[in-house]
Amino acid sequence: MPRPAALLACALVLLAACAPTTVGGTASAVRGPTPGAPGVGDPYFPLDGNGGYDVQDYRLDIAYDPTTDVLSGTATITARATQDLSSFHLDLSGLDVGEVGVDGAPAAAVREGDELVVTPAAPLALDAPFTTVVGYSGVPRTLDDLFGPSGFFHTDDGALAVGQPDVAATWYPVNDHPSDPATYTVAVTVPAGLAAVSNGVLAERTDTTWTWRSAEPMASYLLGLAIGDFDVREYEAGGLRYWDALDPDVPGLAVATASLGRQPEIVEFLSGVFGPYPFTAAGGIVDDVPEMGFALENQTRPIYGSTFFDDPVSGDVVVVHEIAHQWFGDSRPLERWQDIWLNEGFATYAEWLWDEREGRGTVDERFATETARPAGDPFWALRIGDPGPDGLFDDAVYVRGAMTVHALRRGIGDEAFGRLLTAWTARAGEGATTAEFVALAEEVAGRDLDALFATWLDTPAKPA
Ligand SMILES: [Zn+2]
Repeated sequence: MPRPAALLACALVLLAACAPTTVGGTASAVRGPTPGAPGVGDPYFPLDGNGGYDVQDYRLDIAYDPTTDVLSGTATITARATQDLSSFHLDLSGLDVGEVGVDGAPAAAVREGDELVVTPAAPLALDAPFTTVVGYSGVPRTLDDLFGPSGFFHTDDGALAVGQPDVAATWYPVNDHPSDPATYTVAVTVPAGLAAVSNGVLAERTDTTWTWRSAEPMASYLLGLAIGDFDVREYEAGGLRYWDALDPDVPGLAVATASLGRQPEIVEFLSGVFGPYPFTAAGGIVDDVPEMGFALENQTRPIYGSTFFDDPVSGDVVVVHEIAHQWFGDSRPLERWQDIWLNEGFATYAEWLWDEREGRGTVDERFATETARPAGDPFWALRIGDPGPDGLFDDAVYVRGAMTVHALRRGIGDEAFGRLLTAWTARAGEGATTAEFVALAEEVAGRDLDALFATWLDTPAKPA
């Protein structure tokens, strides 16, 4: 709920802009439909996502040809207008757009950089559901960002789409921000003999078309796609349906197989700490992509770079990290990228808990080791509660994020800490912010925790 002071300022200063929420139809009738904003308003990435609508579901019917690297198909996007809309944006990077329709009628579509501006034949009214169909094709781009190469990889036997925060717009038209999660159906047609693996449940399969359904809402960057020569294994464990996909050419295949083999054990362990696993499906994808130097928590099916499987400990730990994100990052997607410590701090803390369980030192010992870093170490110089777009995946966000979690646990005690985690993860599907996390921690602990969070999240210096 907005605070009264904000409403008052709104009424006094920005009457026109506030009018639609305060007096609804009257103001709309005066102003008429207006274009949706080109960005969702994330200060780190102003053009990511779009304003004016909320997506419920994506259906992608696509084909990929590994001999030409061309991806082609149709995106069907079901959304609801959050204002009276004369036009709206989709994010789409570098592909050619064919026919575009809204609610069955042809719509005008114009490229403006990585934005596709769609003008429906008739304006869309506030709250109206509408369906946009976009035909598109082209050779999707590999990006070069905070991790090095990411986005859409063209591999020796197919393709791999994986990245954060940017990947989705390289291969489908999208409201590309985690604050607008949606359900997905992805039907991928590939040459016979190749596999196509994405998130969720394999709903249908023919010789050449693999259809995956994610019935639980998902942030756009968490949609993954792996096409190629894969050993796909389907099994059930602990009440979950698993699909693992391993490229037989992966270096460290035996380690990767063994680490993925521990997934049910890891899910059970983390469920004991965080609460029930938030999805109905699980599994992992390991592709042979030498230039991919990272792993990502794709919802229900993380994608791992092969470098992590050089040794069994590193292999197990990366699987723990990405599965932990299913609770922290996936089922509670960020409202703004600034709060990334909530994702990476908890995923790293899960690694520490796992190491303790495996006899590789306690969490207290790990905390002490990290605390022993000298005050002049650049490790302490980042404000991890506001690391900036270039600092999103700085090592300090991960490790000091985990230290924040442990400092909180010590501060409020194990019992309150346990209740906080399960209360937080029980709000599955809701957006996550640091402010909400702090408020919940204070509610569970029954006291003010401003000083603790200010020390750990907002201070670019070693805590005293
Ligand atoms: Zn992570």
